Amino acid sequence: MTILNETQQDAAREDDGKYLVELEHVEKHYGNLHVLRDINLKVKKGEVLVIVGPSGSGKSTMCRTINRLETIDSGVIRIDGQPLPQEGKALAQLRAEVGMVFQSFNLFANKTILENVTLAPIKVRHMDKTQAEREAMDLLARVGVDSQANKMPSQLSGGQQQRVAIARALAMHPKVMLFDEPTSALDPEMVNEVLDVMVELAHEGMTMLCVTHEMGFARKAADKIIFMADGQILERGTPDEFFEHPQTARAQEFLSKIL
Ligand code: ADP
Ligand code: MG
Repeated sequence: MTILNETQQDAAREDDGKYLVELEHVEKHYGNLHVLRDINLKVKKGEVLVIVGPSGSGKSTMCRTINRLETIDSGVIRIDGQPLPQEGKALAQLRAEVGMVFQSFNLFANKTILENVTLAPIKVRHMDKTQAEREAMDLLARVGVDSQANKMPSQLSGGQQQRVAIARALAMHPKVMLFDEPTSALDPEMVNEVLDVMVELAHEGMTMLCVTHEMGFARKAADKIIFMADGQILERGTPDEFFEHPQTARAQEFLSKIL
């Protein structure tokens, strides 16, 4: 299976070493709750970052600030060197560069699978309909659901819907993909069909930030792991460093519960 075509893979591998996502001193509160505390993070082009940590530690909030589904109180977030725009066209443009896949399969329920994938490229990228459909069918084939193109989302399994959600995000030619627990709502037998697509994407050079509890995936695909608790990044390292030698009591406790 290959998901990105060769041009996309080459583009993904170009300029390895430049930072595509940067967070500097990011702070965020929800009322009195200090949900992100001095978050500093740099993700290089082609890098796969896995974000782990207990529930409520701020993982989703951090992801949502990166495509500005959430505002921040202070600090800087840059995508490919550009500070996040506040609003308007520039923000829409930036959102197009950051693909996001959520826990819930948030496909448009009243649109076919094919329409789900072509909608944004046509509306936001002003892509010609025929070309958008050609690219969409290609992507759907690559994630193994092209035979479902004319069905409605409710006719697909959760695993198939989540693979469509990945294809839909990729159709915008994002520079970065964010995954927020994409397999947490799936029946166990469907988890691997989604993780396999993510592993393949990682091997093809896509820059990815993945919140997940799937430690097998983390070991296989992650270049780096960060561990968050109480809105802070408590540990960062390679999968080996994190799994074999967690430094903090919080991480040791977390690992003892999930491994
Ligand atoms: P995680 O993804 O690590 O489980 P979240 O980022 O979802 O953590 O949440 C971090 C904290 O912020 C939690 O205590 C959560 O209840 C709180 N929170 C999340 N979203 C909101 C919101 N929109 N308003 C108020 N509190 C929120
Ligand atoms: Mg979350």
